[in-house]
Amino acid sequence: MRITVLSLFPEIVNGFFASSIMAKAIDRGIIEYRSVDIRDYATDRHHTCDDAPYGGGAGMVLKPEPLGGALEAVGARAIRTVYPTPGGRLFTQEYAKQLAGEQELVFICGRYEGIDQRIIDLYVDDEISIGDYVISSGEIATLVIVDAVYRLIEGVISQESLEEESFEDGLLEYPHFTRPEVYNGLRVPEVLLSGHHENIRKWRFERSVEKTLRNRRDLLDHAENE
Ligand code: SAH
Repeated sequence: MRITVLSLFPEIVNGFFASSIMAKAIDRGIIEYRSVDIRDYATDRHHTCDDAPYGGGAGMVLKPEPLGGALEAVGARAIRTVYPTPGGRLFTQEYAKQLAGEQELVFICGRYEGIDQRIIDLYVDDEISIGDYVISSGEIATLVIVDAVYRLIEGVISQESLEEESFEDGLLEYPHFTRPEVYNGLRVPEVLLSGHHENIRKWRFERSVEKTLRNRRDLLDHAENE
């Protein structure tokens, strides 16, 4: 998959693509990354990228010309283009799976009060919210979406790790333990040391249900209604 990110602060995004599992996926040719500095497409001498909102009010808005220039340069009209915004559809694991099926994605990182509506009308296919709260960096929202999507692409991480994860079966994942057996006086649950696969499976399922009931009852209610 080719991922293109348009941003005023590309350094925030570049670090993610240069690290850990993402860096390996790029090395192995599974992911291709294009970083675009919106400021390079500013049309005036001062490289202005934001301006006051028509109609008045607080804050600044990302001007359409630099963004439009950057979007044309990367061929965004022919590529599924995502604008993360609190005003978008709520992002979920299902939504991530859908995006993971694309060959190519373009992300627009908003700042300040957001971007000019005409850019959304002309180029954006998906307005996506990462949750009911407001952050100031579209870069962080973009990385949340990118991280959820790219790990679903075949070859990035093992299929087995994906299958047992939270939300896969409508439940949150069970708790994990690793060495040592006793830490600060707390023992690893005996069943996990038993080597008895059926008992381990049962224990994990019960812990999953317990945790989902405690933290996310809404997931179970939803499952019951399906
Ligand atoms: N004035 C806007 C918020 C702007 S926050 C409003 O009230 O809707 C600045 C940028 O951060 C946004 O353009 C968007 O790109 C990003 N952002 C903030 N919160 C987000 C969220 N919950 N989901 C996705 N992107 C978000």
